[in-house]
Amino acid sequence: MADNFKKRQEILIEDYIKTACVNDKKVLLAMRLVPRHKFVPKSYQTDAYLDIALPIGKNQTISQPSLVGLMLQTLKLKGRERVLDIGTGSGYQAAILSLLAKEVYSVEIIKELADSARKKLISLGYSNVHVINADGSKGLESHAPYNAIIVAAAAPSIPNDLINQLKNKGKLIVPVGQSTDNQILKLVTKKDHSIITKDIEPVVFVPLITNKQSGKI
Ligand code: SAH
Repeated sequence: MADNFKKRQEILIEDYIKTACVNDKKVLLAMRLVPRHKFVPKSYQTDAYLDIALPIGKNQTISQPSLVGLMLQTLKLKGRERVLDIGTGSGYQAAILSLLAKEVYSVEIIKELADSARKKLISLGYSNVHVINADGSKGLESHAPYNAIIVAAAAPSIPNDLINQLKNKGKLIVPVGQSTDNQILKLVTKKDHSIITKDIEPVVFVPLITNKQSGKI
């Protein structure tokens, strides 16, 4: 990575990501290895190492890096897992996930974003990520069950279909809320036949697009 990007990335990690309580060594290493500037449009590359969401086209954004770190840390991945990533967007989070898990299935509802993320991930060598252009609001039954499911768009309530696609002891992390000013990031852990739900923190995500709306894209 060019020196100027490397320096900015180090400041982002030391002063913003660690400050947001991301201290898992594996997550921090994976975040150091993934070049965020390659996942944003050229015109935003100089802002790529600020701790902010940035536009990626089609009215969507690449998530704030400290929030990506926090969500990934919450999953406590060991490297052997099959993970479902809903809302591929730029592919940035999927790239980090690919370094923390064995296999990543990443679903994106907007075809242009899915195609460009797939191309980007292949060209950068993240070969264990499979990008699928589909509505992920009901998960991805064809490759279920998953050790972990991570959702990068806000759902109106905790989606039951996603809980059903988790393995026993699997974890789902999902922002839940009807409007941007009352979303909470939730961690749902499946244990035998029960589920344990924990509120992590208030967040702001774009809403999950449902099948009904997808015709308007
Ligand atoms: N993780 C992404 C951030 C994506 S923002 C990154 O690292 O860049 C959320 C993404 O979710 C958007 O790209 C949006 O198109 C997608 N999305 C919204 N509703 C969806 C749905 N029902 N199924 C799959 N993807 C969806």
